[in-house]
Amino acid sequence: MNKEQKDLLLGLSIDHLIQIPASAFPIHKEALASFLKLRDSAQVNGFDLQVISSFRSFDQQKSIWNKKASGQKTLLNSKGEEIIFSKLSKEEVLFAILRWSALPGFSRHHWGTDLDVYDLNSLPGTDYEIQLTPQEVDSGGIFYKLHNWLDHEIKNQTSFGFYRPYQNDLGGVAPEKWHLSYRPLSENFAGLLDDRVFQDLLDGEEFRDLLLIDLVKENSDKIFHSYIQNVER
Ligand SMILES: [Zn+2]
Repeated sequence: MNKEQKDLLLGLSIDHLIQIPASAFPIHKEALASFLKLRDSAQVNGFDLQVISSFRSFDQQKSIWNKKASGQKTLLNSKGEEIIFSKLSKEEVLFAILRWSALPGFSRHHWGTDLDVYDLNSLPGTDYEIQLTPQEVDSGGIFYKLHNWLDHEIKNQTSFGFYRPYQNDLGGVAPEKWHLSYRPLSENFAGLLDDRVFQDLLDGEEFRDLLLIDLVKENSDKIFHSYIQNVER
């Protein structure tokens, strides 16, 4: 892996990004055209497909991680319900974080190929705060219609290369229907990571002030196989 690839994987580079028109979010340059086609197709079907999160840098992910690891940001169980930080062991905190948030350096959001989306037309009001929880996207939820449509588009291969890496519960990251990935690029980036590369990267200086890093290293095999590699292909 060359330095350019390494920096992109770890969220240390923004050179590969371009702004999505009429949005505040960047995307990988080579994924933009396909995303705009998906957005147009959604519009034809009555949805206003909006991005709520796209590229995240290593430092942004580290900030989320460190807040969760120190009890400053809510931890959720698999159902998306709040769990009490003070009642958990360090190891329980680690795996509670990993259920919903990637280890910095290993978030698919670093690549610019992965986006969290919602339907602006389905918002119940302008003051509604989007949670990105199963309740919102499953049957009966406000974004169910969008995701039902996306289910069909992905299945019929009319989603312009986008799919859901976290479609089902594979025992690692919780199902995240809102998380779309541009497969033609993301499968290449995912392919650059094997367990040896993972171990080597964890020894980098970027990880030195990451909370729980010693526990991450102790559990690195499980983390790599259950939370990083364990996605729909
Ligand atoms: Zn996501």
